[in-house]
Amino acid sequence: MSRRLRVAYARVAQETNALSPLRTTLDDFRRMHFVEGEALARGCARFGNEAPGFLRAAELSGFVDAARAAGRVESVPLFSAWAVPGAPLSREAFTTLRDRLGDELRTRGPFDAVFLSLHGSMGAEGSEDPDGELLATARAAVGAGVPIGASFDLHANMTAQRVNLADVMVAYRTNPHRDHANTGRRAGEILLRTARGAVKPVTAWRSLPMLLGGGNTLDFLAPMRPIFSRMTAMERSSRVLTASTFMCHPWLDMTEVGWSTLVTTDNDRALADALADELADRCWAVRNVPVPHAHTADEAIAIARDATFARRLGAVVLADASDVVTAGSTGDSTELLRALWERATDLRCYAPLRDPRAVATLRAHAVGDRVTLDVGGTLDPARYTPLRLEGVLRHKAHRADYGGDVVVFEAGHLSLVITDAPPFTLKPSFYGAVGLDPWRADVLVVKNFFPFRIYFAPIARKTLYVKTHGVTDVDAAFTIPRIAAPVHPRDPVDAWRPVDRRRRGITV
Ligand SMILES: [Zn+2]
Repeated sequence: MSRRLRVAYARVAQETNALSPLRTTLDDFRRMHFVEGEALARGCARFGNEAPGFLRAAELSGFVDAARAAGRVESVPLFSAWAVPGAPLSREAFTTLRDRLGDELRTRGPFDAVFLSLHGSMGAEGSEDPDGELLATARAAVGAGVPIGASFDLHANMTAQRVNLADVMVAYRTNPHRDHANTGRRAGEILLRTARGAVKPVTAWRSLPMLLGGGNTLDFLAPMRPIFSRMTAMERSSRVLTASTFMCHPWLDMTEVGWSTLVTTDNDRALADALADELADRCWAVRNVPVPHAHTADEAIAIARDATFARRLGAVVLADASDVVTAGSTGDSTELLRALWERATDLRCYAPLRDPRAVATLRAHAVGDRVTLDVGGTLDPARYTPLRLEGVLRHKAHRADYGGDVVVFEAGHLSLVITDAPPFTLKPSFYGAVGLDPWRADVLVVKNFFPFRIYFAPIARKTLYVKTHGVTDVDAAFTIPRIAAPVHPRDPVDAWRPVDRRRRGITV
């Protein structure tokens, strides 16, 4: 009979955009998701609700499921802290979470293994590699012989420190991400087999001097689809425990960033190396497939105006690619908004905007009141200037699914959904749920890169990316100071291997 195991599990996760002028605080975690102890166990149990409001089952539920299936495993809930994508963590927020992880692992142990749900592109004041520091903290607390497993977003920026500290690392296999629980389950299964001595994980990884590429980077479309299929095929071999490709969130304040690949075998170094190499070559081969073309605001308005048939059957969806809140932007850009206000007067436009100050002002009014106020440009005033509008308050509410207060403000042809929290314009119901029928709009604005396309498919007759100016501009990623290594596509790079060897610390 297999040995009884005692395994701790916890989460510290956020995706950071280093260019945001804000800081992510403990309150930001508490507002979205901060669950501890038995409440976490209930949330991760079968038929539980791990992250109410956005995911019923995520990585920790997947891990708990793997523990239940393995049998004779006591899974010990520590805590789960998850914040919306945004600014780097304040020093206080990061050290509090890090130290708590170390303290709980020390005081509630001994443990036979540790499972952590991390993002892998989290930034924090005063830390080069916060996710690596969390792994180091866990390692220091439990000692060298105890296996540590971690799940990551596939937009993680992998580091040598993490590869050295963790025994098992598994990334999401879908983009947009829809396999959170399955990723936790896959990582948990390998971790538990490792703790029982049934397998001996040996990991190889490769780091690519490549920040962008792979086109739309969706797992189910060219050019990335064959790479995702290949990882699944690799794992059919009993000698391969897991394979991951990390397509790196580019707006990170780390000295080196880039795509990476990682393969863990059951004690087969040569195979791990060969497969990690193969995946790296496959990623390198798609480096020149450009990310989707982005239009200027005026180009997008002209295309939307000409698309009369598309507008009659649905709407033209404009993705504000420079103010993507799901990639950490503040959500208060007025650049596209101003263009729509001034130059799309013949089009009925719905747009999201994050502006806690405007929300507070409008909350004090009655629905139906006519109000003149400045909107936008309050969170990132260095980048955005407020837009003065005269309009009518159409709706106001406090809603958990909008992360707080939400108001609808109608100024002529422009209807704004103004929120306290980052407006996750994932589905047309973002508009519909506050009384704006999306089928009546000519133009629907979203502040999202890709996931919206799945949910907007029934209504979006045309989807355009609009480049304004903001922290999620792809070229903005190159303004972050880094070491002077060449990186594609900013610099011509002939070969990935020399940079990879240096990043992995191979000097010979
Ligand atoms: Zn991601």
